[in-house]
Amino acid sequence: MKITANRLDRGFERYQKEFEEAAVGVLRSGWYILGPSVEKFEREFAEYTGADYAVGVASGLDALILAFRVLGIKEGDEVIVPANTYIASVMGVTVNGATPVFVEPDEFHNIDASKMEAAVTEKTKAVLAVHLYGQACRMDRISEICKKHGLKLVEDCAQSHGAKFNGQMTGTFGEIGCFSFYPSKNLGAFGDGGAIVTNDEKIASDIKMLRNYGSRKRYYFEEVGMNSRLDEMQAALLSVRLKHLDELNEERTKLANRYLKGINNPKITLPAIRQNATAVWHQFVITTGQRDELIEYLKEKEIGSIIHYPIPPHLSECYRHLGFKKGDYPITEKDADEVLSLPFYNGMTETEQDYVIDALNRF
Ligand SMILES: *Cc1c(COP(=O)(O)O)cnc(C)c1O
Repeated sequence: MKITANRLDRGFERYQKEFEEAAVGVLRSGWYILGPSVEKFEREFAEYTGADYAVGVASGLDALILAFRVLGIKEGDEVIVPANTYIASVMGVTVNGATPVFVEPDEFHNIDASKMEAAVTEKTKAVLAVHLYGQACRMDRISEICKKHGLKLVEDCAQSHGAKFNGQMTGTFGEIGCFSFYPSKNLGAFGDGGAIVTNDEKIASDIKMLRNYGSRKRYYFEEVGMNSRLDEMQAALLSVRLKHLDELNEERTKLANRYLKGINNPKITLPAIRQNATAVWHQFVITTGQRDELIEYLKEKEIGSIIHYPIPPHLSECYRHLGFKKGDYPITEKDADEVLSLPFYNGMTETEQDYVIDALNRF
């Protein structure tokens, strides 16, 4: 049986009629950028997260770039970021000229809150919490540290749509929550898209200005902004998917529980689950000291898998000028050497999953 790491077509087929109606509706409307579908989705997404405002932008990276920009983060400032994250999290900081200060992960692959305070200096202006793989960071502790040191808090929720900590939605703990709607995310579009959520009216209005060339009023330009708009087509399709997000996340939880129950091979370490955090299982990530062999073995059985992520940001070519070397963040580097994401997607059948479980147990 051939099983790929992800299957985005399954997520389309289940709601095909609704998606097609929404798409045709936009095509026939004659209005394709910043119109009623974006406004509708922004209202719905704000309501879903419990934030006062949501503003659509062109991607998750743009959401991060704009978030740090409106918070006034600039050259000379330091921002505390997880060492173990997708590179876009860090780019949101460095595009604004600020310096990322990396902190090692805890056993849940997320930033270790107990190591954060040691990274604070007088230049520190903000903290970026990334809820990696769909599991919330320790937001009680992180919020406390931010309050104590007067730091702005930004959340990267690109993998955590619907995930909560102590019953509160990720994205609503600090000044700004940043979301990506890249097709493979829990709330995926059919192209690129992103959004920020905030309770601050000025932040929402400034991001609306910046996403549209720095203009609040047509052809009056306050700042050199960006062209970073969520388009009407993606917004209309996202409204459809958002209606089903809770059931999609529940299905992912069921699949994750089947993996957790079914896989029992001492060579494979299953993901740890944080207390008080509702995970939405963006990925199902195991760790193993024999990753190369496991990938090869799975390949022979026609089972796909992905490494999220093979090179940590501090060792990436694009950050060579920051002067880090191998060994600087050993826990992050061990994660990069040992993590493996198993096939995992909405619409995965029990037969497919059992085939993967059986193969893993015989490895
Ligand atoms: C996907 C992702 C991003 C970037 O989102 P894009 O929409 O692809 O720009 C940022 N951070 C994390 C953690 C992500 O997973």
